[in-house]
Amino acid sequence: MEKKLYDVTVVGAGPVGLFGVFYAGMRQMSINLIDSLSMIGGQLNALYPEKFIYDMPGFPKVMAKDLVKQMWEQAQLGKPDLHLNQKITRITPVDQPERHFQISCESGETFLSRTVILALGMGAFKPRKLEVAGLEQREGVNVHYVVKTLDQYNHKDVLVVGGGDSAADWTMALSLPDSHGKVRSKSVTMIHRTDKFAAHEATLDLLRTASHARIHTHTEVQAVEDAIEEGRKKLRVTLVQNLTKETRDLVVDDIIVCAGYIAKLDFVKDSGLEMAGNSIKVNDRMETNIPGIFAVGDVASHAGKLKLIATGVGEAAIAANFAKVMIDPAAKAFPGHSTSKFEKH
Ligand SMILES: Cc1cc2nc3c(=O)[nH]c(=O)nc-3n(C[C@H](O)[C@H](O)[C@H](O)COP(=O)(O)OP(=O)(O)OC[C@H]3O[C@@H](n4cnc5c(N)ncnc54)[C@H](O)[C@@H]3O)c2cc1C
Repeated sequence: MEKKLYDVTVVGAGPVGLFGVFYAGMRQMSINLIDSLSMIGGQLNALYPEKFIYDMPGFPKVMAKDLVKQMWEQAQLGKPDLHLNQKITRITPVDQPERHFQISCESGETFLSRTVILALGMGAFKPRKLEVAGLEQREGVNVHYVVKTLDQYNHKDVLVVGGGDSAADWTMALSLPDSHGKVRSKSVTMIHRTDKFAAHEATLDLLRTASHARIHTHTEVQAVEDAIEEGRKKLRVTLVQNLTKETRDLVVDDIIVCAGYIAKLDFVKDSGLEMAGNSIKVNDRMETNIPGIFAVGDVASHAGKLKLIATGVGEAAIAANFAKVMIDPAAKAFPGHSTSKFEKH
């Protein structure tokens, strides 16, 4: 079967990529959306899902994960084909039978597209893994680097590893009583390898004073093995106090590891795209030096650049509309107003 040739491929399903999808949809383009992660939302879902954002138009405050949910609902008006777990490693221009791009992924998968909008943020995220015996084979079962749903931790004993915002936010979500006084998890232990936390001080204060979480500093995971407790399959985790070298065992249902993310922009640097440091240079139409490839959001560099969602989504609207003109020179860049466009549907 012949491969589909998309009008536009948006690489990066962070907030800026999602808004680019919406606008491309408003221009009736066929859309391919790709991300290397197993979830949409970029930094918002990966780094700070439970934090409030205060500088979104129309939302006095909105939780990052809820903003992603709303943006995804809006983006789906464009009916994009979504490809997750696909890290782009190369974009090759092809001139026959018409100019387009072949987009190659680490998995061996390829996609064809007339235009490309790069909304890569800081680069392809990968959770930083803990090098501990016994962890790797339990990944995705009861060792988690990405929290997909909080419900799976209801009534469970949970160990959270890390000292940053994500670790503190998940610990809080699992251990803080809700408005009815109910707590999600049976027990939550948070460990950090030093006593210096990157997490917000106010979150830590709340954890220490209002939650049932236990926080241990200078503590690391040394080993993990299966255990059975009250007939249930659990994990026996050996913890080591890294100053005294004292060890002790903790039996839990799940381990959530928040050791940060490694972001790589590796393919961009070998792609022929003109760079400004770690960012891709764009003009005022968000075009890169390669005709047909646009860059928006945190990865884009121009004179007025601010790495914010509010400005990034504006760049995505500009890129999508000029991508439309590129594939259909008779089309106007100005899309018309959504008020009149959507009224017709
Ligand atoms: C703790 C924290 C709090 C913040 N608070 C605010 C705030 O209050 N207000 C605000 O405006 N901004 C805030 N920001 C910044 C904001 O999150 C970023 O500006 C925004 O996420 C940029 O969006 P983006 O879509 O450009 O990139 P990202 O959100 O980084 O998304 C990029 C996506 O591209 C994918 N990707 C990258 N390379 C590849 C590849 N090769 N193949 C496939 N996929 C790839 C990544 O996996 C990622 O999902 C905050 C940031 C942090 C860390």
